[in-house]
Amino acid sequence: MADILATGHEFTTIYGRGLLAEIPAIAHRPYLVVTMPDLWAKLGKAFTGDLAGPYLVHTIDGDALAAELATIPACGSVVGLGGGQAVDVAKFIAGSRRLPLFQIPTSMSVNAAFGHRAGLRYGGHVRYVGYAVPEAVYVDFDVIAAAPPQFNRSGVCEVLCYHTAHADWRLARDRGRTPAKWPYDQRLVDAAKSVLATVLDGIEEIRDVSEAGIRTLMTANRWGGATFHNAGWNPCHIEGTEHFVFYALERFTGRKFLHGQPVCLGVVIGSMLHADQADEMLAAIHRVGVDIRPEAMGISWDDVAATLSGIRSFVREAGLWYSILDEAELTPAFVVELRRRIEGVYGPWRG
Ligand SMILES: [Zn+2]
Repeated sequence: MADILATGHEFTTIYGRGLLAEIPAIAHRPYLVVTMPDLWAKLGKAFTGDLAGPYLVHTIDGDALAAELATIPACGSVVGLGGGQAVDVAKFIAGSRRLPLFQIPTSMSVNAAFGHRAGLRYGGHVRYVGYAVPEAVYVDFDVIAAAPPQFNRSGVCEVLCYHTAHADWRLARDRGRTPAKWPYDQRLVDAAKSVLATVLDGIEEIRDVSEAGIRTLMTANRWGGATFHNAGWNPCHIEGTEHFVFYALERFTGRKFLHGQPVCLGVVIGSMLHADQADEMLAAIHRVGVDIRPEAMGISWDDVAATLSGIRSFVREAGLWYSILDEAELTPAFVVELRRRIEGVYGPWRG
């Protein structure tokens, strides 16, 4: 799918059931399970045999992890078990120790299990560091289906974002503002578009977290996770305004979000600014069951307005590549219109 021009691999990805129970038989011993405390309490009993231990993630700060590395139990392989943070820390440990890695995503909320680098924080800023290719990514239907539905559904953000990314990249091309190492590439855009189409076609199955929906979204995220590397560490066909809105909201509000909510809000904001299929994107996000009303993510419309009023200086200070945020006027009137459209579809928030 969609990789006629890519020369890099996507990670070996296995779908099935009862996959956790096979880990003791296949992982190089003793194996270390990198996970979150709640997941270990729920799923830990599957990991029998020669276990080096669970490593329960308590930080994704890169310097803190590097300092801690020597105290983490010696092991023959690393198993990442989690949504985003645990699989990122598993990559970091496996990459640092040059050990075999097995990844088991427990929800579809982000595409971290399918990417080469670990998204760690340095001084509060995300940086993608290290390099690790798993032996396999195991997508267990029953494990995924047991995650909260909103975690799974919100993973569509990692693919719907292509829509706004492409509009930004075209704009940058037209303005002569593409980064020198990332000139506009229609082939990359077309490849991403074909992946986006599979998710839009499967949106009801993804909402239902059916087996077909899991296959559709995880196969799309598999492409998305690898394409940053496979395109020569180029993110322009997969990320733009929508993720910048998320970064800015995180910075201005100081809150932690379920990734897909602010990113999907950013998809609508970016599509409106570009006047490019905003209603269609909003309808898809509503249909899949991701609530992008600010109140649903614990912030207010005033927070959104304040964030957007400062977002141009934010993207410039952060050194992010050219997007509609560099030139659009994000006025109070824009926020009023954004709210009107979103509440027109979701209704006003009633707590
Ligand atoms: Zn994302």
